Amino acid sequence: MFNEATSPVGVALERVVARWLLDLLDLPPSASVGFVTGATMANLTCLAAARQHLLARQGWDVNGKGLWGAPPLRLVAGAETHVTVKKALTLLGLGTDALELVPCNPQGALDPVGVPELDDRTIVLLQAGNVNSGACDPVAEVAGRARDAGAWVHVDGAFGLWAAASPNTRHLLNGHGAADSWVVDGHKWLNTPYDCGVAICRHPAALHEAMRTQAPYLKDGSIAAPKDMVPEFSRSARGVELWAALHSLGRAGVAELIDRCCGHARTLADGLRSLGFDVLNDVVLNQVVATAPNSEDRMADLAARVQASGEAWFGPTTWKGRPGVRFSIASWTTTKTDIERTLAAIEAAMADLR
Ligand SMILES: *Cc1c(COP(=O)(O)O)cnc(C)c1O
Repeated sequence: MFNEATSPVGVALERVVARWLLDLLDLPPSASVGFVTGATMANLTCLAAARQHLLARQGWDVNGKGLWGAPPLRLVAGAETHVTVKKALTLLGLGTDALELVPCNPQGALDPVGVPELDDRTIVLLQAGNVNSGACDPVAEVAGRARDAGAWVHVDGAFGLWAAASPNTRHLLNGHGAADSWVVDGHKWLNTPYDCGVAICRHPAALHEAMRTQAPYLKDGSIAAPKDMVPEFSRSARGVELWAALHSLGRAGVAELIDRCCGHARTLADGLRSLGFDVLNDVVLNQVVATAPNSEDRMADLAARVQASGEAWFGPTTWKGRPGVRFSIASWTTTKTDIERTLAAIEAAMADLR
């Protein structure tokens, strides 16, 4: 889609789904909502707004001057920050050398005690939904300090932000709404086709300043033009798929999807314990990390064997220094029978490995 003249239905549906998303995810109703290819680009979009906003306050016009000679920004992040956030930092010219990494607790959530003094040149990088454990950083606690200091808090919630859509998991997000920008994917837990991420920003003016195009034949000032909320000038109407998914599921349907996947994760964790595995995380969301004591060095083989069997797909990981396997239950098609079949395949593969 390009603009309201060429894609009126696409633009209208994206405005509707933007309102729905902010409501469902319990985010400020006036936030900017931009539709991008995935969480990687959503991180980039939000962090471009953060860079713009913090540098403008230092009297620096990053659109005009670039980063040549710019006042340095500080980057504070949890030690478990996702690789795509780091990639966004490199693409934005902020790099990763300046990252001040804050240690995480045993569940992989940032420990607020380790957050250094914040100031008005700092971007704080938090996440909702650790890719191994599902743990969420203490957003409200950090955001309270950040607001007093004038720092910007960004939350990567590629899959984890959907926890806000269920009354049973909402509490895990630790006051996520207090941040300045958020990222969520449609193509993970909501199961839209690939090519669907969302960049959400509390400060629409900063975001639009970072994303606006300056081609002379376009009128500036149309605050909600799709091209002024994301990097792309022309793009697919990906918000329509998000609209369709939310329209068909409804509020109750999304909550049920989240609850069902979390229930499957708990069943899987119980089954793994019965097979003699150590479950290494608190299974609070849809993620399970586990390892087989005495066979920890075979976990990559286990994953490969089960993958080859075609029964289930999960991958090897390392969690707190221990090799293990990692499960993410995020498909609407997964049933209790699939969990039983996965456990049977794991049992058979372990017998073969021994
Ligand atoms: C998957 C994921 C990403 C990257 O998302 P894409 O949609 O693949 O670009 C970023 N952060 C987290 C926490 C993720 O789980």
